[in-house]
Amino acid sequence: MFKVSRPTTPPSCTKSSGYNTAEIVKTLSQIFQGKCYLCEQINLSDPEIEHLVPHEGDDEKKFDWNNLYYSCSRCNSIKGSKHKNILDCCDSNTEIFKSLQFSMPGHPDHNIRVNVVESYKNEATHNTAALLERCYNEAATGLRGITRSNLIDKIFDHFCDLLILRQIIVNIKSTSSEIQFAKDRLAVMLESSFPFSAIWKWHLLQDEKLLDKTRDLIQPHL
Ligand SMILES: [Zn+2]
Repeated sequence: MFKVSRPTTPPSCTKSSGYNTAEIVKTLSQIFQGKCYLCEQINLSDPEIEHLVPHEGDDEKKFDWNNLYYSCSRCNSIKGSKHKNILDCCDSNTEIFKSLQFSMPGHPDHNIRVNVVESYKNEATHNTAALLERCYNEAATGLRGITRSNLIDKIFDHFCDLLILRQIIVNIKSTSSEIQFAKDRLAVMLESSFPFSAIWKWHLLQDEKLLDKTRDLIQPHL
């Protein structure tokens, strides 16, 4: 999950026009930087408009621009109307990144862990961690198994890049220009526009040796 800023002049959203007009879809795609707000994957082949607060037939919630979020179909169907009171990534007062700690597994068949940071423990952070763990890991049905496998492949592709950059940065045989190139690439991975950015930031924070050499990269995100 990552911070999102909504425009001060929102697109029109009414019951007669619907909530999936071309203007609304385009604006959501732009402000969410093309990423699912839950799993953070990019270039969605199946983008959907998700209601942060399930509308459950309530038109006020259904056509409220501030309740419309950009997501992939996997996360939208997992969240459904079951997961309520979760963190709002569009709320400037919510410390999204600091609240939830991500841990990558060493094996693609193992689970990505999402833990609530001690000082941010409350019902919403707990609910969000539980939802995100399902979004990343759930493979309970045949189709969910396929979408989970596709998602974890995308994450591991970037994870391999991160590990290669790490080895360049910490290797005593690396030249200063090689290290700078690797640090520049790593800096891109930490930007909110990059897929799964929260996972990479937390991975860096939990890798003492890498962190020691890249504090300047993570500092702007803390
Ligand atoms: Zn998703």
